[in-house]
Parts: sequence; structure tokens; C-alpha cells
Amino acid sequence: MSVSSEAEETAETLEATAEVFAMDTYISLKAYGSRGEEALDAVSTMISDLDARLSVTDTSSEIYAINAAAGTPVTVSDTTISLIQRSVEFGSTVSGALDITIYPISRTWGFTTGVYQVPTAESIVELLQYVNDDAVVVDAEASTVLVPENTEVDLGAVVKGYAGDQAVEILKEYGVTSALLNLGGSTIRALGAKPDGSSWRIAIQDPNDESGATYAGVLTVTDCAIDTSGGYERYFEEDGVTYWHIIDPSTGYPAKSGLISVTILSADSFSGDCLSTACFVMGLEDTISYWRTYGDFEFVLITEENVIYVSEGAEELFTPVNDFENAELIVVPYEE
Ligand code: ADP
Ligand code: MG
Repeated sequence: MSVSSEAEETAETLEATAEVFAMDTYISLKAYGSRGEEALDAVSTMISDLDARLSVTDTSSEIYAINAAAGTPVTVSDTTISLIQRSVEFGSTVSGALDITIYPISRTWGFTTGVYQVPTAESIVELLQYVNDDAVVVDAEASTVLVPENTEVDLGAVVKGYAGDQAVEILKEYGVTSALLNLGGSTIRALGAKPDGSSWRIAIQDPNDESGATYAGVLTVTDCAIDTSGGYERYFEEDGVTYWHIIDPSTGYPAKSGLISVTILSADSFSGDCLSTACFVMGLEDTISYWRTYGDFEFVLITEENVIYVSEGAEELFTPVNDFENAELIVVPYEE
């Protein structure tokens, strides 16, 4: 072995890591190869920029400007235009289970501030009339977005997924072929395989363990976006009832579809992030029929009875662990 190839080999396994607090969560990034560190610097900058642009609470963000100007068009970046368009488009394929105008409802429950309350039924009905992503007017030519009075947009359900896709683009530009991006645990993106060629092992959190310390299962993957939505991520309890942050736009109440954890495996993180939220709202039956209609992704679903449903294409990749090792596991076939 020559000296130079030895150096190359070392460079390939060189690990760079970065931590960013953005999008209301801890993001940890790992990349391998000689330009890993440079690449992660660029990814970190992109994530912070995206957060500053798209945060619903940051008063200098584009989303904040759109919401504050209700009734008049606001000029925004192409990124914001395209994200709003893609989210609304996706929402229409899931009958509104994902609706980026859910924000006034999320706020009244206190999920945006942490000052939780159970709103009155009247106030929910009142606010629900403003939840309608079809009313968001996007003018791509003029680069403007308009929301009607009292309607507000929030890209919280999709922004980490979008960031995951952008990150992969950047990593590729730097020649990185092996990386693991963890955007707050709910959006994970594996690029390539581990430097030694083996697959990444990605844990799915046990939805019944609020400490977040135990896992329900492990996915063994290469080159994959893994997005999980769960009621355990942000919730409060009142009078023995648990209320969580994923809202059913058809009712204005936290989605009680019978699923407590939804993990989506897909080629891109944006789709995965949209789908995990939407499927959490839609529940088992609608998720399965959506999957059979549109395909292009795999899933691991956990019901409130702790039954695991794994799509046919994910069966080989998934291993239940801990409390779920002996849980009932049903493999869902492509063909009905
Ligand atoms: P997390 O952000 O916790 O990983 P999700 O991707 O499922 O989980 O997104 C949940 C966030 O999306 C909520 O915090 C809220 O801001 C917003 N949200 C909640 N319900 C919906 C919905 N039905 N459609 C669109 N956005 C939603
Ligand atoms: Mg989501």
C-alpha cells in the first residue's frame, strides 16, 4: 500500500460532527470524508438561514410577515413560495390531513408557546373557519403570498424534512457520500452507508416512554429518509386526558386516529415529513389505502394497542426491540 492511498483511506473515515439548535430542536449532523467539516459548516448555515426565514414565531421571518400582513400580498423568497406550494399540493392528496393553516388552532391549544389549555368547543369552531390552505394565494410570478384575514401559515410539520433534502444536496456538492443527519429525532436522513460499508441503524422511539430513552424498534437502512410523528413529542395532560401537538384539521382537536407513532421511510425527507404528520392524522386504514394508491414509501405504524404494522417493503429493515420485541407485528402487503 502506498503512502498516498493510506492517507486517502484515513480521509474517508474522517468523521466530522456538528450540533445546531434550530427549528425548535437539537439537530446533530455527522459526515465522513475529507471535506466533511466544510460540508457540515455549510449545512449548519443553511439550516439556520432556513429557520430564520421560515420560523412562525420569529418576528423577522418571512412566515411571520405573511401572517402579520393578512389580507395583503407579501414578497417572499422562492424557497418560501415553493415550500408553501408543495405543502398545499400534498395536503390535497391527503384530504386536508396536513394543512399548513392549522396555526391558529395550535396556538389556542398552547402548543406554540407551551402555555397549554383546553380551548372551549366554541373557540375551536370559531378558529376552524380560518383553517383552509386553499385560501392561501401564492403568486409565483410576482413572488408573493397572501393569506386571508385571521388565516395563518406554519410550516412546522414540513420544514425539517425540507432541510434534510437541502442538506443532502449540500453534502453531495462537497463530495460527501456518507452522512447521518438527525433533525430532532423526528427527521433522520441517512446518506449512503456507513464508511465501513455497513448499513445505518436508526432507532424508533418507544411512544409509551415519555423519557425518550427507550426504543420500540430499529431500522437498518442505507440512503433513506426516516420521519416519525408521535403524540409523545409535545403534549400535556388535563383531567386524565392527553392532548398532543398533531391536530386533526377536520376537528381542531389533537388527532386521535388510533396511531401513537408513525414512521415513514422514503427517498426524500420532505415527503417523509409531510406523510408522517398526515398519516398520524389519517390513521391505519387511510394510511394503508394511501400507500397502496401512491406507493413510493414504506411505513412502521404503532397503534394505541401496541400493535405494529409494517409495510411489506419495510419488513426486512425493521426489528422490534425492548417492550415491542414480543408485540403483535402485522406485515401489510402491497396487494390487498
Ligand atoms: P415534529 O415537528 O414534532 O417532528 P411533525 O412533523 O408531525 O412533528 O409536525 C408537527 C408540527 O406541525 C406541530 O408542532 C404543528 O406546528 C404542526 N401541525 C400539527 N398538526 C398539523 C397538521 N394537521 N397539519 C399541518 N401542520 C400541523
Ligand atoms: Mg411532519
